[in-house]
Amino acid sequence: MKFVSFSQAGTDSYGFIRGEGIVDLGQREHGHSTLKSLIAAGKLQEVAQRYAATPADVPLSEITLLPVIPDPGTIACIGHNYEEHRIETQRDPTEHPSIFFRHPESLRGAGQSLIRPIESTQLDYEGELAVVIGRSGRRIPEAHAWEHVAGLACFNDGSVRDWQHHSRQFGPGKNFAGTAGFGPWLVTIDELPDDRVMALTTRLNGKVVQYAKTDQMIFPIPTLIAYLSTFMTLRAGDVIVTGTPGGVGVKRNPPLWLQPGDSVEVEISSVGLLKNSVIQEA
Ligand code: ZN
Repeated sequence: MKFVSFSQAGTDSYGFIRGEGIVDLGQREHGHSTLKSLIAAGKLQEVAQRYAATPADVPLSEITLLPVIPDPGTIACIGHNYEEHRIETQRDPTEHPSIFFRHPESLRGAGQSLIRPIESTQLDYEGELAVVIGRSGRRIPEAHAWEHVAGLACFNDGSVRDWQHHSRQFGPGKNFAGTAGFGPWLVTIDELPDDRVMALTTRLNGKVVQYAKTDQMIFPIPTLIAYLSTFMTLRAGDVIVTGTPGGVGVKRNPPLWLQPGDSVEVEISSVGLLKNSVIQEA
């Protein structure tokens, strides 16, 4: 199943994909006004079965996709989680993942434009796999980590590099409003291959700029869930953004910055294709 958050004629809702349209669950599940709320109630599978034969309410062409979870409590991002990217950023190997946090205001849905802020011309792409937590937990053992996952999505960890490098903390450069893509949908884990290895490709204006298999992560998904949940409760709807492969624009010579009018795609096999254009903040 592919679940989406969307907006239609100014009203936000959520649902699942049926063909070229959406079955609107926000209209039907009155106890749950958001996808996060439905996930927290543990009802994704139940609802999917209940509306298994329901035709789509609205074509995808008539709605705006929102970030998969527009209102996550926590967005935890992992730095340097692929060897090629660790080397290009000249980081030493570490025993533990490097973690920073994003704010929900920085998120955009598939098809919404990423915003290059007026303060910088150094907006960069980072294609990544996002994990959405389904069942809350603290100190989750690696062996049980996947039981806490609702599904996966594509993510573009858009980064304003000069602001990222103001200090050793990543916060500011990772949090300008509207700089990250998160979509197009949440694909539930039953749709993934058994080995859960996916291919991740980032394209800029149709040209491949990043490619990796997700089993090349230095710290795999169960390790990240175990590590994060050691110091904080992971809650339903929380997002773990698992790091980017090599090939980011800042490490190219000359650097490759996103320009207004550009089109960036993050495609992950079995998950989906996240496409965003870039606009200049007025
Ligand atoms: Zn990243």
